[in-house]
Amino acid sequence: MPDDVTMDKIVSLARRRGFVFPSSEIYGGLGSSYDYGHYGVLMKENVKARWLEAMVRERDDIVALDSSVILHPRVWEASGHVGGFTDPLVDCRHCKRRYRADHIDQSECGARPSKHPGETELCDLTEARQFNLMFQTRIGAVEETGLDAYLRPETAQGIFVNFKNVAQIARRKPPFGIAQVGKAFRNEITPGNFIFRTLEFEQMEMEFFVPPAEADKWYRYWIDERLRWYIRFGIREENLRVRPHEADELSHYSSGTSDIEYLFPIGWSELEGIANRGDFDLNAHTEASGTRLEWVDSGSGERFVPHVIEPAAGVNRTLLAFLVDSYTEEVVADRPRTVLRLHPEIAPVKVAVLPLIPRSDDITGRAQRLYEELRKVVVAEYDDSGQIGRRYRRQDEIGTPYALTIDEQTLEDDTVTIRDRDSLEQVRIPIAGAREVVLDRLAQEWKTPKPE
Ligand code: ATP
Repeated sequence: MPDDVTMDKIVSLARRRGFVFPSSEIYGGLGSSYDYGHYGVLMKENVKARWLEAMVRERDDIVALDSSVILHPRVWEASGHVGGFTDPLVDCRHCKRRYRADHIDQSECGARPSKHPGETELCDLTEARQFNLMFQTRIGAVEETGLDAYLRPETAQGIFVNFKNVAQIARRKPPFGIAQVGKAFRNEITPGNFIFRTLEFEQMEMEFFVPPAEADKWYRYWIDERLRWYIRFGIREENLRVRPHEADELSHYSSGTSDIEYLFPIGWSELEGIANRGDFDLNAHTEASGTRLEWVDSGSGERFVPHVIEPAAGVNRTLLAFLVDSYTEEVVADRPRTVLRLHPEIAPVKVAVLPLIPRSDDITGRAQRLYEELRKVVVAEYDDSGQIGRRYRRQDEIGTPYALTIDEQTLEDDTVTIRDRDSLEQVRIPIAGAREVVLDRLAQEWKTPKPE
């Protein structure tokens, strides 16, 4: 990272400020599982809302969907997941640890963490075996008559199996898309790296159905569009890159895939994949279900199986990228300050209201009234505990763009101080117009003040 942000610093801030906790911590934690606290929830909601706005609200050609986590088991046979959604694993007979064969060069040897598995004399690795990543479960109370099922490992298949419903009922003609945000589950065996890779996570996936001849054009369009989305919400351009997959990396369904990668503290890693899935999925479900998934023009009778372009992003990885990119340590007036320079539309809290002298009922009364006015329109926080400097630091660490301070002068001239998280500029404004000033500033275009 250009500005020396380590994963440890992010994990520590996320925990200290209640963004993310290790899951089931009182039982010793569960590898690759995390729980989101108050600010983590608010921030995750912002990530999803910005994605849905860009995908659905700001466009005329994409509609929303919320499909089930547990689908008919045949969906996963037809999609190729039962047979092929696997990772190659190797076991070490000596240290009894398990590694992903394709991640050996990023893994630590169980006995000598400074080496990679296979590099010490004691390492005794098995041949690679394929391990299916889907979590299995059973539908039905009676074990013998129950039906084996899976927790979805991606949200995309729920979209494909609803293609006909949406195409008919929403009367859509390709090119059109279906967008979905929801949980997905994968029995990942590579632990670590915080919320980058977890057993359950949320995906933001959109399947864009296009006339076959236009597939390449839309594939390129969506790579550009998605890259722009990250930049629009404050990720620095130099920390993003597009990496086209090599032919031997491509999934069974894909005729072209590019990853948008972010320079995480663990190195360049996938943030989102954009795949040209061709007609693989619609054909596979047509064959397996007997229902023709194609587009038919009711007027001319023209019919074709659309090709599909899929931008597939992860909510949790995106949140991690926002945390990493915004994390800043600096010294202000000889004192260290940690601040999340988050885009105001991503920041969990937009404004804090701080009474300077908490013992004064006049001051807290004015502050409370202002807070109540503000929280009707934005996520606001009221904080009257501790010294003002500590309260500012707390808001800086959760990335709150503005703080309004009410003090003795407020009682004299009805003004408050507005403090800008990024510039640290403080100016007095009339309390009567404070709400409008905050809304106005939040709506302004924002670019990170962090150096490129
Ligand atoms: P990776 O190669 O990192 O395992 P993938 O190529 O299998 O990812 P996709 O199937 O393309 O991932 O899923 C789309 C997006 O979902 C990813 O870009 C990522 O943001 C997110 N994602 C996938 N697996 C996980 C996971 N285990 N934990 C968190 N996010 C995930």
